[in-house]
Amino acid sequence: MRNFDYHRPADMSAAIDAARAEGAEILAGGTLMVDLMKIGVREPDALVDITGLADLEGHDIGMDRIRFGALARMADVADDQTLKTAAPVLTESLWKAASPQLRQAARLGGNILQQTRCPYFRDTAYSQCNKRAPGSGCAALDGGKTNLHAILGGSDDCVAMYPGDWAQALIAFDAEVHTQGPGGTRTISFADLHVMPGDTPQIETILEPGEIVKHITVPVIPALKASHYLKARDRESYAFASASAAVGLEMEGETVRDVRIGLGGVAAVPWRARQAEEHLKGKSLTEETARETGRIAFADASPLEGSEYKIKLGADVVAGALMTAHARSQGGE
Ligand SMILES: Cc1cc2nc3c(=O)[nH]c(=O)nc-3n(C[C@H](O)[C@H](O)[C@H](O)COP(=O)(O)OP(=O)(O)OC[C@H]3O[C@@H](n4cnc5c(N)ncnc54)[C@H](O)[C@@H]3O)c2cc1C
Ligand code: SF4
Repeated sequence: MRNFDYHRPADMSAAIDAARAEGAEILAGGTLMVDLMKIGVREPDALVDITGLADLEGHDIGMDRIRFGALARMADVADDQTLKTAAPVLTESLWKAASPQLRQAARLGGNILQQTRCPYFRDTAYSQCNKRAPGSGCAALDGGKTNLHAILGGSDDCVAMYPGDWAQALIAFDAEVHTQGPGGTRTISFADLHVMPGDTPQIETILEPGEIVKHITVPVIPALKASHYLKARDRESYAFASASAAVGLEMEGETVRDVRIGLGGVAAVPWRARQAEEHLKGKSLTEETARETGRIAFADASPLEGSEYKIKLGADVVAGALMTAHARSQGGE
């Protein structure tokens, strides 16, 4: 690891000033940042530890919206039973993420900004990685293994998968991200935060240098109550998703009035399956319509060698999650 400066500012304006400097990076729980520094993937000149900014802690459930501080710990939110009753998808997607130890250390702002687990990105012995070294090529596409890569939203330059779980619930339920940076404060639709790889996979979000996520809000809508996060993974104790779905339903009698579907483990960025949502609206929810909806969610998928399994797995996960959400809408589970 290279030498670097360390700052722990006590207020937001000092944090922004320190974080906007060239070579500076923001540090929260450090479970991603320190990991990537140890393996030489990220080499900041300075770390700006924001854990002294008390305003960014905690979460609260309001009548109209739920607010999550960027420094709220994953564990505290995952274990909140009131939130689990009001919006199960928002706790289940955190509870299924990482390990208990990691959830104690990691914060929500860092969670949504986590980077891909592509093995070639994480191993500097591979010189070809457009995300780590722009213009160098892509070791995955150039003869590497692609079984864990994105089948939705990838490009000719990068097919890395976005690995997080909570983001799928946020995109499905129209979350917003509230930031403060050198240019002032702004509110970003969660759907606009992450950038598709295209020919610049090194650009992952629209955040500017020094821009700090302060909190995240989710509007309270009926579909949150009958929601569910289903995650298929290689190892139940902890592993990243092979395919996952964050779903919610609002029923009007036997008819689906509103449905939300976010897909994880399959796409380059947090992914909302809008076509599948539109297909199900106005229909009744049966095993057959749930399965059809799952198939439509993957209609545009482009599998790579070894990742074909994600299409059937992903469709099954969507259908299974919808059936659980439906049971919840009827007062079950
Ligand atoms: C072994 C292992 C297994 C894991 N499994 C899962 C899993 O199954 N599912 C899952 O979702 N995640 C998983 N993770 C990822 C884990 O959830 C993230 O590493 C963690 O959430 C990051 O949070 P942090 O506070 O530690 O972020 P940090 O490491 O401190 O920061 C992460 C990134 O976010 C930036 N950042 C942090 N906070 C802010 C802010 N407020 N404003 C602007 N930028 C900010 C940092 O600059 C950095 O780029 C796993 C991690 C490990 C190591
Ligand atoms: S898929 Fe993306 S992250 Fe992985 S090696 Fe290719 S360019 Fe790098």
